[in-house]
Amino acid sequence: MTQQVDVVVGGGQAGLAAGFHLRRAGVDFVVLDAQHRPGGAWRHMWDSLHLFSPAAYSSLPGRPMPVQPGRPYPEAAHVVDYLAEYEQRYGIPVQRPVRVRAVRREDGFLRVEGDTGTWRARAVISATGTWWRPFVPAVPGQDLFTGRQLHTVDYRTPKEFAGPGIHPAAAWGNVIVVGGGNSGAQIAADLAGVDGVELTWVTRRPPRYLPDDIDGRALFDAATARRRALEAGRPDTGGVASLGDIVAVPPVRAARDAGRLVHRAMFDRLTAHGVAWADGTTAAADAVIWCTGFRPALAHLAPLGLRGARGHIATDGTRAIAEPRLHLLGYGDWTGPASATLIGVGRPAREAVRQMSDLLR
Ligand code: FAD
Repeated sequence: MTQQVDVVVGGGQAGLAAGFHLRRAGVDFVVLDAQHRPGGAWRHMWDSLHLFSPAAYSSLPGRPMPVQPGRPYPEAAHVVDYLAEYEQRYGIPVQRPVRVRAVRREDGFLRVEGDTGTWRARAVISATGTWWRPFVPAVPGQDLFTGRQLHTVDYRTPKEFAGPGIHPAAAWGNVIVVGGGNSGAQIAADLAGVDGVELTWVTRRPPRYLPDDIDGRALFDAATARRRALEAGRPDTGGVASLGDIVAVPPVRAARDAGRLVHRAMFDRLTAHGVAWADGTTAAADAVIWCTGFRPALAHLAPLGLRGARGHIATDGTRAIAEPRLHLLGYGDWTGPASATLIGVGRPAREAVRQMSDLLR
C-alpha cells in the first residue's frame, strides 16, 4: 500500500535535524532509515574516535549535547546516545530498518520506493550521508597485493593489526595508512607506537596541522564567516580549508609531538607484498588502510536523472535546482557551509524546511 506523506530519507543527525524543523512546521512526514538502530554513521566509527569539538559545539537544534563526564571531546558512543535520545524527545517518526531503493517522479509527486513499502511525497529531503560510499583511488597493483586492503569504514582497533607480519621472522605487522586528512592522521596516531605494529603513513602532500589551539569551535566560526561573506557578496574567505587539514586532537598531537607520526610521500604502486615508490624504494605491507574519503550516498536518487560533476547534484543551498521538491541535506559544504557537522546542519535543515513549507503552501 502506498502512503501519502512527505519523506526524509536517512535518520542520522541530518535527518533528525530536518525532523525537528518539520515537526515545528506542522508537516506530516516520516523519516526512513536503513539502520536497525539510531545513530547513523556514529555507530560504526572506530573505538578510539573522539569528536573534534566539545559537546556544547556538537549540538543539533533545540537540545544541547550533554557533556560526557571526564571527556572534553565526547566519544562516538556518546553521540549515538545523544541522537537516540533526541529522536525520542522530539517524537521524530523514524521507521527503521527501511532502505530506500529509488525516488522517482509520478503524477506530480515523488514516489519513494523502499524495501518495506512505497510512499507518495509532495517533497523529499535526502539526508543519507557519505559513510556508506567509501572512496578508494585507483592505484596500479591493487589487484596484485596479497595483504588486506581496508577503508576507514572498516577500521576499529589497532589490536587486530599487531604482528607477526608477512616475514616469518618479524614479530610485527606492517601497516600502511594512506591519507593526510583527519581520518588518516587519527588512525595513524592510533596505530603509531603500538607493540607489534610497524606503521608507514603516506600522504599526497605534507600533512597540514591546524594550530593546536584550534578545534571544531574555530572551524565552525570559520565556516560561519565564510557563509556570511558569500551571502553578503564579499570574496570567499576559504572557510575551514584555508586553516589546514588536520585538527590536532589530543591523541594526534601526542603522537606527532613524540615523533611517531612521520609521513612519507604517496607510493606509486602496490606489489604482491607491499608498496613501491618511483625511486625504487619499497615497504612491506600486511595491510593498507585507505583513509581516502567518501562520496555522497545518492544511488536512490538516480531515477531522477540529476547527477552532475563529481557525483554531486546541482543545488541552490539545499534545493536541487532541477527538482525543487527535493532537498539534499548534510553531505558537505556543497549543501551548506559546515552542513556535514553536528552543529552546522541545523541551519540548512531549517532553511530546507522553510523552503519546503513555502512550496507545499
Ligand atoms: P549519517 O550519519 O551517515 O546518517 C545517514 C543515515 O542515512 C544512516 O543511518 C544511513 O543508514 C541512512 N541511509 C543511507 N542511505 C539510505 C537509504 N538509501 N535509505 C534509507 N536510509 C539510508 N562532525 C562533527 O560535527 N564533529 C566531529 O568530530 C566529526 N568527526 C567525524 C569523524 C569522522 C571519521 C567522520 C567520517 C565524520 C565526522 N564528522 C564530524 C562529520 C559528520 O558529523 C558525520 O559524518 C555524520 O555522521 C554525518 O551525519 P549524516 O546524518 O549526514 O549522515
